[in-house]
Amino acid sequence: MGLLIDREKCIGCGACAAQCPFGALALDAEGKAQANEACTACGSCTEACPVGALKIEAAEKKSAGIDPTEWRGVWVYAEQREGALHGVSFELLGEGRVLAEKLGVPLTAVLLGSGVEALAAPLFEHGADRVILADHPALAAYTAEAYAEALSALVRKYKPEALLAGATTIGRGFVPRVAIEVRTGLTADCTGLDIDPATRRLLQTRPAFGGNIMACIECPDHRPQMATVRPKVFKAAPAQPGRTGELVRETLDLKTPAVRVLETVHAMENEKNVADAEIIVTGGRGLGKPENFALLRELADALGGAAIGASRAAVDAGWISAFHQVGQTGKTVRPKVYIACGVSGQIQHLVGMNSSDTIIAINKDPDAPIFGVADIGIVGDLFQVVPEIIRALKA
Ligand code: FAD
Ligand code: SF4
Ligand code: SF4
Repeated sequence: MGLLIDREKCIGCGACAAQCPFGALALDAEGKAQANEACTACGSCTEACPVGALKIEAAEKKSAGIDPTEWRGVWVYAEQREGALHGVSFELLGEGRVLAEKLGVPLTAVLLGSGVEALAAPLFEHGADRVILADHPALAAYTAEAYAEALSALVRKYKPEALLAGATTIGRGFVPRVAIEVRTGLTADCTGLDIDPATRRLLQTRPAFGGNIMACIECPDHRPQMATVRPKVFKAAPAQPGRTGELVRETLDLKTPAVRVLETVHAMENEKNVADAEIIVTGGRGLGKPENFALLRELADALGGAAIGASRAAVDAGWISAFHQVGQTGKTVRPKVYIACGVSGQIQHLVGMNSSDTIIAINKDPDAPIFGVADIGIVGDLFQVVPEIIRALKA
């Protein structure tokens, strides 16, 4: 597959060069468009050409050798850590229920671990029609190798048409391995999922080109259609107490993993996780230096124990750990109140927090983009505004 340029037709207007997100097009000495090795054949330039001089040559399509009609059902990987289900599992069950109903198929939760059968009940209560439980000593502590082997074996046996997993450190760690083992595609960090009723395909929406466009990705020829979704992107469906379903206990013959977990250390156990917090106080580069996070911690305490968030600029400067980062390459959050202090509000930050119920922004620049999403905007120096708020809260 590649970009074809018809030099006869090209009138050298340069419109295509302005369109290319990779800077791969320029006019050559003869004033004709020429693409360099940075071209990814993305096709963005073809419609910009007023004389139809550009087209993408389609690659010869190889058959995946599978019959999609043999693959049925929606699966959610039910992530658990040390015997507790991760919240993203319930969020995915809520979304999976909607997809399964559109497809007219059952919703299955897949539970991997050792001694975790009791977790099936809350999965049924949150919408699973069936829980497939693989209980095995090799799955007691998470390792990418054993978890990928187990989930791949189940996928091969049951052939689901769609498989959703959380884009958590665990999901990101082993779910791509499953996609490779079962030879299918994976769309990471989806922000929207739907079904095309005509084709039954999963429509997987996610930001592309640094968040500047939303791409809708389909997986037409391979199964299952695999997608990961970050925590808090979807809302969890409310539990229906007493709802139950079919529990399938699977006995897997797993290899002895090459990696053994000797000890699990909870390095962040004293830190409040922004992913689960109802109130977040976030600091950006406007804090000026790491010591000034103390002021935000004081505000967080005055608010009754809010979590501390950070922009990537603050994390990259080494002022605070990446555990606190909110945004495209950090965590997606959905608190009741999000207070951004000295954060400009670049798109990569906004995509991680713009679903918060109430956003309060404190910034000395009245034109800062953060004010575009803020419900309450305070134009001012955070070193004056934040102490005032703390004083008012304490009073
Ligand atoms: P700045 O943009 O420098 O803004 C600082 C703000 O503080 C300014 O608006 C200024 O007016 C204000 N200010 C300064 N002093 C004061 C004061 N005394 N009182 C009040 N206001 C003050 N960013 C993220 O946050 N999360 C991500 O996950 C993320 N992922 C990224 C992924 C990619 C691929 C890329 C390219 C970038 C990513 N970024 C991310 C970076 C993002 O583009 C911005 O650079 C970053 O968010 C800027 O952080 P900031 O707002 O703290 O800093
Ligand atoms: Fe640029 Fe895409 Fe056109 Fe290649 S196909 S020149 S990458 S816009
Ligand atoms: Fe040539 Fe078309 Fe590009 Fe204009 S937009 S420079 S005509 S290829």
